[in-house]
Amino acid sequence: MAAMVIDGKEAAAQVLDTVKTATAELIRTTGITPGIAVIIVGEDPASQAYVRSKGRRAEECGFRSVTHRLGADTAQADLLRLVGELNGDDAIHAILVQLPLPGHIDEGEVIQAIAPHKDVDGFSFVNVGKLATGQTDTAFVPCTPAGSMVLLRRALAKTDYSGLNAVVIGRSNIVGKPMANLLLAANATVTIAHSRTRDLPALARSADILVAAVGRPQMVRRDWIKPGACVIDVGINRVPAPELGEGKSRIVGDVAFDECAEIAGAITPVPGGVGLMTVAMLMANTLASACRAAGVSAPRY
Ligand code: NDP
Repeated sequence: MAAMVIDGKEAAAQVLDTVKTATAELIRTTGITPGIAVIIVGEDPASQAYVRSKGRRAEECGFRSVTHRLGADTAQADLLRLVGELNGDDAIHAILVQLPLPGHIDEGEVIQAIAPHKDVDGFSFVNVGKLATGQTDTAFVPCTPAGSMVLLRRALAKTDYSGLNAVVIGRSNIVGKPMANLLLAANATVTIAHSRTRDLPALARSADILVAAVGRPQMVRRDWIKPGACVIDVGINRVPAPELGEGKSRIVGDVAFDECAEIAGAITPVPGGVGLMTVAMLMANTLASACRAAGVSAPRY
């Protein structure tokens, strides 16, 4: 294997350490404790697990963490009322609605009801617009692309990607598009690829920075990689793993790791890469929100 493996575990731990230290300092100097409210509607086991882990991390960081667990039959009006109350609660700096919501609720309407200055997921039109217009200092940037940028900076040991070609495979609002905007803000020359792109392997081979956010197990193969490229694998795919026992499964990324690692200069593993950064950046965004409320500057990562 030639590539440097980018350690998401270590990077996430460093982000969380910085958040913990800065939170203690914020509380000491201003008396403001970052507050995060997580809303979950329904009983989906995966969502329940995500929410528990976010709550645990928030408490480890020294935040005040509140979880609102609502029944699957909650009316949209009641959910919107709760979001409205949290918008007006000065002790809450971050509001997170766990997705997906039950089918009878309009997700878009709920997300847009969150006050942009508390929208730490970065999904509100104000935050999307700020990112798209390059106002990254005051935007909340969606956590997965924000975490991917931290890993990229560590791998490339620089923040300016002038002259580098970046290809982002995937154009979702939560990963692909914000990732492309962040790379553009860092002066990379960016191409966004998607399911209608022609000759994706050739396009991928032009990338100094290749980001895969597709949701297709190990789609990116060895001959898609430019020698020395930095590869960020956002994909999280559960695949059958009979070798581990009957009915067992394992998680793989969108990149065929072993073969691509022979060609790439640096590469994120799955698991152990981008996935761990997402919750860490959520904590970073929550702290940033509290710092803005207090009028002090937030740490950079
Ligand atoms: P979406 O399903 O919303 O988007 C997938 C994108 O991939 C679409 O733009 C789609 O194109 C494109 N695509 C699908 N098939 C192909 C193909 N054959 N060739 C080229 N492009 C293709 O997914 P998300 O962005 O939400 O997530 C992507 C992956 O990242 C998933 O594996 C998900 O689990 C993972 N993820 C990981 C997170 C983490 O914390 N690490 C957080 C969020 C997501 P089109 O638009 O044309 O349909």
